[in-house]
Amino acid sequence: MTVRWRAPGRVNLIGEHTDYNGGLALPFAIEHGCTAEVGLAPGRDLHVATSAQEADDVRLTAADLAALPGSDGPVWARYVLGPLWVLRERGYDVPPLEVRVDSDVPSGSGLSSSAAVVCSVTSAVDDLLELGLSPDDLLAVARAAENDVVGAPTGGLDQMASLRCRVGEVLLCDFATTTTENVPADLAADGLTVLVVDTLVRHSHADGEYAARRRGCEAAAAVLGLPALGALRTDDLAAALARLEDDEQARYVRHVVSEDDRVRRTAELLRAGRTAGIGSLLTASHASLRDDFRVTVPELDLAVETLLAAGALGARMTGGGFGGSVIALVEEGRATDAAAATAEAFGRAGYRSPAWFTTLPSAGARRA
Ligand code: ADP
Ligand code: MG
Repeated sequence: MTVRWRAPGRVNLIGEHTDYNGGLALPFAIEHGCTAEVGLAPGRDLHVATSAQEADDVRLTAADLAALPGSDGPVWARYVLGPLWVLRERGYDVPPLEVRVDSDVPSGSGLSSSAAVVCSVTSAVDDLLELGLSPDDLLAVARAAENDVVGAPTGGLDQMASLRCRVGEVLLCDFATTTTENVPADLAADGLTVLVVDTLVRHSHADGEYAARRRGCEAAAAVLGLPALGALRTDDLAAALARLEDDEQARYVRHVVSEDDRVRRTAELLRAGRTAGIGSLLTASHASLRDDFRVTVPELDLAVETLLAAGALGARMTGGGFGGSVIALVEEGRATDAAAATAEAFGRAGYRSPAWFTTLPSAGARRA
């Protein structure tokens, strides 16, 4: 018997670099996803495969699986095997399995191709082996697969979105409590859609910059005597900024606190059915990421500027920054022209022509 589960990639509508600060984010699932097919292997060895190009199948023994985090082997296989290793560490009996993944989420575009892999595999294994994992356990296993096996310090946003999003809804994620709430976001009712533009820029120093931002935020929280910056309220921001001598830390604090506030306001507008009203909050988020948090690159800034000039109601980078994708809230009939305008502006600037697609809030992990 085999089971198949599909888990989506995501875009983050708003709330960037807030997850590791105990703040708020508002992602939604995109239509692109990863399908994991899992069955019991006929022999004693585990067998994992991906339809991604240039990747050979990997076979390994139970002992290889036990030694996984410190061992060699292709990086992609760590995403597929990660959930199995984590389950084993948690005391579950993991028999020899055959796991095959097939994804159409572009990798490294800031759309969470990695979460689509770990969430589809975790869900499928839970189903096949009838482990009965709770929603919190599914999340913990998928996240630990990336944190502990791949070594990617993700804050949990991607896996929450991939597991828990629903069609026509965004997911309000609270990282202080690790709780989520589905919020209706009927963009289509207002003739709106989300245009995703992938700049195709992938910066090799992104990991180092991410780690530096995290450290800076933690240092600022320590100076302010807070468990995390997400605990700071907008009303207390001015007093907190006055206490910070380090300009860089002050900019980080201003971003995190103002971003949390924008997430709250975006969720309120969506709940009230005022979808078009969120546009200016998206654009303000981008400005904060550009000027205060400083994680944008010229390609991201140019894409946002061009999309706004082409009539988008709001636009911002999405994901960690230093490349990746931009999202824009646009009237459905204007998406193609806005994308074309971006391609033209990129051509003039001597950048690669960006990839793009439109999407509405889609389904989270489900049996395929
Ligand atoms: P993102 O999640 O934003 O796309 P990451 O760097 O977190 O970027 O994850 C990308 C990595 O996830 C890839 O380098 C690859 O190792 C793994 N991955 C993504 N899609 C697949 C796939 N279809 N098969 C195997 N591994 C994949
Ligand atoms: Mg990822």
